[in-house]
Amino acid sequence: MTDAPDSGETDIEAGRRFFARPWRFVMGAPDADALPPATGTEIAFAGRSNVGKSSLINALTGQRGLARVSGTPGRTRELNFFACGEGFFLVDLPGYGYARGRNEAWIGLMLGYLRGRPNLRRVFLLIDARHGLKANDTAILDLLDRAAVSYQIVLTKADKPKPGDLAAVTAAVTAAIARRPAAHPAVLVTSAETGTGLSELRAAIAQLAV
Ligand code: GDP
Repeated sequence: MTDAPDSGETDIEAGRRFFARPWRFVMGAPDADALPPATGTEIAFAGRSNVGKSSLINALTGQRGLARVSGTPGRTRELNFFACGEGFFLVDLPGYGYARGRNEAWIGLMLGYLRGRPNLRRVFLLIDARHGLKANDTAILDLLDRAAVSYQIVLTKADKPKPGDLAAVTAAVTAAIARRPAAHPAVLVTSAETGTGLSELRAAIAQLAV
């Protein structure tokens, strides 16, 4: 048996195989001057504080303590780098929206990060499935469109809303990004709690690694 993918392997299987490898924490960067070299392939997770970013990273990797889950919004202010294998990095960006007046600092940090990352393949922007897009999420979409950085929306906590409400939020978000130039058209619906959508997100990420 080799580790090589069969020609018949599905994207879902490839995603599962990709995430079966161990992930490790590499470093936290407090600002754009402290970033590690832009090598290999990188993806990033962004979202409002408390959107469920740490929980999703832990659920995706199956490593409970990898990202710190916190009941206190706005605790993590660093860009946290995680690695899988030799050349694949996942960056957990600090949550935004936790304090009025702090968003300009967040946007400055984001622009500093984006400027130096030619290896960044996609930003996964996490949105709470109960709330949909808020004004500060839309500001991030504008920023990513202007910077021409590919991004994809991931709804989190999909176990929380009623099915009808979830369908309405998914449809509204899908419509809101339809004409945005850098947006991936597919909105992924996930729950770290129940595991909904994790296979699809793993598959999307694994496809970016090849
Ligand atoms: P972060 O600030 O974006 O990293 O968010 P956390 O991962 O720390 O989660 C914030 C809160 O939401 C915690 O109380 C989590 O237990 C809760 N949470 C995260 N993901 C889910 C989910 O999929 N379903 C539910 N019901 N709660 C979640």
